[in-house]
Amino acid sequence: MTLPVALFLLAATPMGADSGRVALADSNATRVVMLGTGTPNADPDRSGPSVAVVVNGRAYLVDCGPGVVRRAAAAARSGTPALAAEKLGIVFITHLHSDHTMGLPDLVLTPWVLERSTPLEVYGPVGVRSMTDHVLAAWAEDIRVRNEGLEPEKSDGWQVHAHEIQPGVVYRDSNVTVTAIPVPHANWKRAFAYKFVMPDKTIVVSGDTRPSDALVEAATGCDILVHEVYSAEQFKSRPVEWQRYHADAHTSTAELAALATRIKPRLLVLYHQLFWGTDDAGLVGEVRRGYDGAVVSGRDLEVYR
Ligand SMILES: [Zn+2]
Ligand SMILES: [Zn+2]
Repeated sequence: MTLPVALFLLAATPMGADSGRVALADSNATRVVMLGTGTPNADPDRSGPSVAVVVNGRAYLVDCGPGVVRRAAAAARSGTPALAAEKLGIVFITHLHSDHTMGLPDLVLTPWVLERSTPLEVYGPVGVRSMTDHVLAAWAEDIRVRNEGLEPEKSDGWQVHAHEIQPGVVYRDSNVTVTAIPVPHANWKRAFAYKFVMPDKTIVVSGDTRPSDALVEAATGCDILVHEVYSAEQFKSRPVEWQRYHADAHTSTAELAALATRIKPRLLVLYHQLFWGTDDAGLVGEVRRGYDGAVVSGRDLEVYR
């Protein structure tokens, strides 16, 4: 698919409150909603990592960092009704790091209390079933009290169907085919990027990863690439032991510029940004030194189409 650059940039413009009219008029169009662009850093402006791919009125989440259900509710209010809490029904987890999964109990329980009637579908690496079992065990008394008390909701909405996945196609329905791509992330045995193929768009979310040839191969020519990143400039002044970790776990702006030059997405969205003192414009500037395509630094609740 090719769009003139100017039109594409317009389409990729975040839909904030002042452009809600566009969102409301076109609430079924395929889009990416940044529910949380944060990291383990407790930045009050950036909720825990979570991205929603919204297709034909259904939201497919990638990761569930802290704050996920409230950010989704905010997105629903701003023109993406598929993200209303009680409609959150499926999540693809990239890896089991706490910053990407601390919203799991929120995603299991809050929508149920708000009358989601069907179990949550969770896809993720081996270990995700144990994690969900432990979440249900931890809140067993809450589930019992709500089910036995006067609250009207008595559905199966508190249950979880956990699917432990292998690389390859992991999910398919009439809207989307989802492929898991194994990515290297520090000493995690299993971490995934996810590729969403829809009739009108292909969207790839990197998860946490250092540069990955498998990701390049899977993402080449995609419409929107949401990729994690850290500042190559600020990295230079990080303590040596942290440099070792970040180089093993994550992707620098310079590395991402090289990857994006190979992938050629229509839009590159910086995500899970480690700023270390720089800002969105600083990160974008670093990427642009080595990449001449369209790039934005994602913020919570921005929408890309
Ligand atoms: Zn992370
Ligand atoms: Zn991680």
